[in-house]
Amino acid sequence: MHTIYTDRHHGHATDDLVIDGQPIEYLETPARAEAILAAVRAAQLGPIAPPTDYGLAPILAVHDADFVTYLRTAYAQGAAYFGEPRPVIAGRDDVTSERAPHCPEDFPGRRDYYTYDYEDPILELTWDAAYWSAQCALTAANLVCNGNGGRTTNGVCAAYALCRPPGHHAMPDQYGGFCYLNNVAIAARYLQADGPVAILDLDYHHGNGTQAIFYADPAALFCSLHADPEWIYPFFWGRADERGTGVGLGLNHNWPLPLHIDDTAYLAVLDEALGVIKDFAPRYLLVSLGLDAAEGDLIGKFRITTDGFREIGWRVAALGLPTVIVQEGGYRIETLGDNAVAFLKAFEA
Ligand SMILES: [Zn+2]
Repeated sequence: MHTIYTDRHHGHATDDLVIDGQPIEYLETPARAEAILAAVRAAQLGPIAPPTDYGLAPILAVHDADFVTYLRTAYAQGAAYFGEPRPVIAGRDDVTSERAPHCPEDFPGRRDYYTYDYEDPILELTWDAAYWSAQCALTAANLVCNGNGGRTTNGVCAAYALCRPPGHHAMPDQYGGFCYLNNVAIAARYLQADGPVAILDLDYHHGNGTQAIFYADPAALFCSLHADPEWIYPFFWGRADERGTGVGLGLNHNWPLPLHIDDTAYLAVLDEALGVIKDFAPRYLLVSLGLDAAEGDLIGKFRITTDGFREIGWRVAALGLPTVIVQEGGYRIETLGDNAVAFLKAFEA
């Protein structure tokens, strides 16, 4: 299987964040992608290639143009506003609980308008990292639709986008949850030119951004297995009764799961989701591969083992669909690589 990767994510250097003189612990670090890359290389999964540049058009097919302009220019705007370059983090001065009805003109207003949480920094090269992360997903999508991604033993074409930063929490016009651009949605929209797509989100957290983007879309099925948002981020989205709207009604499926779920219980729910995907009969499948569902994750509380990820890989591959696998979360560096390779190798086999 081809892996698409670029080290441009290093520019989003969140491992030595200092804000107002205080070091900030931020778990979405460059070491995550490096650990997975090292494991993919050691496992000889297949060729590792850099992304092709598909430009802004496929990003603008998902995200609001003013939001994209804000992401591109926020760091420079912040430096001009504060009189010095520094990480841009929303809500530092005055947190408002409700989003303004229109984007304000002033910088603090714009800064708080374009995110729904108050953790994620925009650094000098955050846009660059997010842009190339999206291009990784697009490149993998292009390999799969051209039949060049590498084939599994049952002849199915698949490719893996080792994206960082992740994407599934990014809304059409708001970033949050470590995510700036919605990589899987950008790839899915690109593939929709060929036919309907299904997105299976296996991250520990609900893929609220992806859900929002396709909520009224009759040509996209969204299935998400995640920790119950009653207790866990993103809190406001991910309930079972969120089923889509308009012509997309019935094509959004959420499985909020109990904390501490184990392999056996998880796999039973996965089978339900795979049944829904099979019935929809999409042209392509995209998998939001979050590894924070793993046992011992620093954020997630599920108990999915490495054997569990292997079994998940087999069962998803058994759908026999051309598949783009997009990296999302996962925060325990020690086991990230093993779990990614367990899924990817099993998928291939
Ligand atoms: Zn997550």
